[in-house]
Amino acid sequence: MYTLTPHSLSTAPDAFRLRRRSRPCRAAIATRPSTTSPHHTDDTPMKPTNVAIDDPTSLRSTWSQKAWVASGFVSILTPLAKSAVAAADSGSVFEPLLAAYAGYVLADLASGVFHWAVDNYGGPSTPVFGSQIEAFQGHHRWPWTITRREFANNLHPLARAVIFSVLPIEALLDVTEAGAAAHAFVGTCAGCVMLSQQFHAWAHEKARRVPRAVAALQAAGVLVSRQMHGAHHRPPYNINYCIVSGAWNGVLDEYKVFEAMEMILFFRFAVRPRSWSEPRPEWREEEEEEAEEAAAL
Ligand SMILES: [Zn+2]
Ligand SMILES: [Zn+2]
Repeated sequence: MYTLTPHSLSTAPDAFRLRRRSRPCRAAIATRPSTTSPHHTDDTPMKPTNVAIDDPTSLRSTWSQKAWVASGFVSILTPLAKSAVAAADSGSVFEPLLAAYAGYVLADLASGVFHWAVDNYGGPSTPVFGSQIEAFQGHHRWPWTITRREFANNLHPLARAVIFSVLPIEALLDVTEAGAAAHAFVGTCAGCVMLSQQFHAWAHEKARRVPRAVAALQAAGVLVSRQMHGAHHRPPYNINYCIVSGAWNGVLDEYKVFEAMEMILFFRFAVRPRSWSEPRPEWREEEEEEAEEAAAL
């Protein structure tokens, strides 16, 4: 009899024996449901590309990326404007403010679930999310490159997701003549989701380069702090996935919510998360100077 946790699986019967590795984000293992046994894993390295060294121009924002992000802001500001107009008409401000706060809180949880998913499952060829999965693997090898990305270059994938999510939701809210609170919730949640990669970038930025207002918000816990997110990039490498405020990180990690979800997916689909695999030398985080020296050889 044993408790079903990834850690206890190391003492489980052979059919389910696993060892939980300590570096989930460096791995490059394409995971897919096994057709033979739960042991089956494709160990082909993903080999993320260091774009900051190999192709620095890829960190710049293209016009199409800027257009996507601009459209993303329109899709965020539109429901917020609707909310403001409806609140002014009704004279009630408390409900939309409360709904906006709920949207901000939910966005932090959503950022954690998405980050956990792309850190642990799939690969470059995964439909829709392949490029994001590859980008997150590269981020864990060379986390400093995120601070070199231009704004739209960093945000455009989430801007697209926000646009295609908000449009139908807002259409539904218009049809149902929803009030100010509903629009405030949608606009704030979508805004925090789209900007989460900027919050993430600030959490990696050198302290002296972070704008003072941002540093104050990080210190107040409104935005994810350097210390909190820094823990995600250190052993055991499987905590603090949330990157809006990080408010959910404590409860998610304390109650091992992601480990429980990993166990469910493993026993249901025989898919192992990268966080259960042994570390490889190439998963080690590479400092900026080190990467430049390696590229110069
Ligand atoms: Zn990660
Ligand atoms: Zn990071």
